[in-house]
Amino acid sequence: MAVMAEVSTTTGAALRSPASPAPAPVKEGDAEKLRFIEEMTSDVDAVQERVLAEILARNADTEYLTNCGLAGATDRATFRAKVPMATYEDLQPYIRRIADGDRSPILSGHPVSEFLTSSGTSAGERKLMPTIEDELNRRQLLYSLQMPVMNLYVPGMDKGKALHFLFVKSETKTPGGLAARPVLTSYYKSNHFKNRPFDAYNNYTSPTAAILCADAFQSMYAQMVCGLVQRHDVLRVGAVFASGLLRAIRFLQLNWEQLAADIETGALTPRVTDPSVREAVADILRPDSELAAVIRAECSSGDWAGIITRIWPNTKYLDVIVTGAMAQYIPTLKYYSGGLPMACTMYASSECYFGLNLRPMCDPSEVSYTLMPNMCYFEFLPMDAAASGGDASQLVDLARVELGREYELVITTYAGLNRYRVGDVLQVTGFHNSAPQFRFVRRKNVLLSIESDKTDEAELQRAVERASALLRPHGATVVEYTSQAYTKSIPGHYVIYWELLAKTPADGVGAGEAVDRETLDQCCLQMEEALNSVYRQSRVADGSIGPLEIRVVRPGTFEELMDYAISRGASINQYKVPRCVTFPPIIELLDSRVVSSHFSPALPHWTPGQRNDD
Ligand code: AMP
Repeated sequence: MAVMAEVSTTTGAALRSPASPAPAPVKEGDAEKLRFIEEMTSDVDAVQERVLAEILARNADTEYLTNCGLAGATDRATFRAKVPMATYEDLQPYIRRIADGDRSPILSGHPVSEFLTSSGTSAGERKLMPTIEDELNRRQLLYSLQMPVMNLYVPGMDKGKALHFLFVKSETKTPGGLAARPVLTSYYKSNHFKNRPFDAYNNYTSPTAAILCADAFQSMYAQMVCGLVQRHDVLRVGAVFASGLLRAIRFLQLNWEQLAADIETGALTPRVTDPSVREAVADILRPDSELAAVIRAECSSGDWAGIITRIWPNTKYLDVIVTGAMAQYIPTLKYYSGGLPMACTMYASSECYFGLNLRPMCDPSEVSYTLMPNMCYFEFLPMDAAASGGDASQLVDLARVELGREYELVITTYAGLNRYRVGDVLQVTGFHNSAPQFRFVRRKNVLLSIESDKTDEAELQRAVERASALLRPHGATVVEYTSQAYTKSIPGHYVIYWELLAKTPADGVGAGEAVDRETLDQCCLQMEEALNSVYRQSRVADGSIGPLEIRVVRPGTFEELMDYAISRGASINQYKVPRCVTFPPIIELLDSRVVSSHFSPALPHWTPGQRNDD
């Protein structure tokens, strides 16, 4: 034991930056985890070589690697020479056969246990990522490293609870009978989560039954009421992504009166009907008029600044990802939390979980993730090479990336993705031991995102085309458009700016007026119908994206936009209308020229599972 304690303290010190205050004592249970991180990051190249050999050995007889001509080789040189880089579209024929029930070893030597549905889409539908049983262990391992690292910076997190809003989403079966569901739904429904032993670091205020309830309202209501009842125990408040936590705050704004009434009487609203949720909440909810009064006092004033710390006064930080597309929510979260630190602890995807933030209390702008070399085999395509298509000969190993450079992430996984382009762009910011650390720069080709939706330029173009067909009978067309992810309200929504042209303008009548309101409202809905299934699911099932808005701007606005860009140094020859705008002066210019604005009058079509008509 004495040896363990000694090792662990040194390990803890290694993980802290030199500028950090005095190290917190490391618990024995954490020492093993911290030592594991040190081991994995000390010689990443050796770990990566072993991981690749393991992956290639277990997948040696797969159709995919056989077709590549690997002939059972497990060494890097042969792998590099024979295996091409692949996109989802390259793998789709293989994936489709697995989904249809072909159980032969196509991509993976181990049986595919289910499909994880990514928020990345292909032809408008969620990508299906094959996974295998033992990936759960790898994910679990990465989760288990988070709190030992956090404890180095914020000790005492085991003395209370986490109010973490966790949700499952709907799942479907593929024609061959495999489950298809998001990775977190798969994790929460697994025995790893459901039958987890008590862990003082991850002691949630939300009962498991509430987390597992597929009805978004009931799940949120139950999690919120339990979080309120245990308000003094709560040491951290979070959700996976920033947008999820903001939805929870919005939910409180809309439902505090009912929540307070339930707490006053100790009886859960009949709107929560799921028997297992009612039973779980009944174990926690007791009549408490004092608490009900606190909630009413805090929520009725209409002042929501600092509401998180007012309701949960012992909160030390927000546990929420605010890197990448989520950075747009940082100011709003600061407002609601009175400036609490935001901890981005993990970088992960449906394809594979990647790594950890070893300085979780750093400012969001400084977050870097250390890729753990045991998770998969990592390679990196330099962005200059990626820009011109890129080929496998340009890939760089984890141990050979260069400080400051940007790369596209390419992975080879135990589950059978080989040299797969994830689509994330990362920049090397430093090293922990020999392990490079990366800033998440962006996801390639994402124009608009409110939560997990990712809309690219081509999708937006198609949506505008589809909607503008409704204008034709009115003799009008869309001459120019751009867009904005509007996140000042919760939930956020897409705003599309349209400049219209009337083909045969009546005297003194602009195109905007030539088209009636109802048609323009319908155009909003048509655009939504044309967007990908993740967008439509967020609108319909989750309510996490608000109705799409079209703002018609007056004729000549886009010319003014060009003039503005040119006045700031853009070349006339090269100027292209930006299809998404974020620069505040440009947004102000557009907004000052709006002649009418229109919202989608209904929900777009969405059903669980893949659409057959696309
Ligand atoms: P999904 O395939 O739906 O699981 O989404 C995975 C993607 O979400 C990743 O490839 C990233 O683009 C994004 N993502 C995941 N974790 C983070 C993070 N910590 N910071 C920024 N983006 C992230």
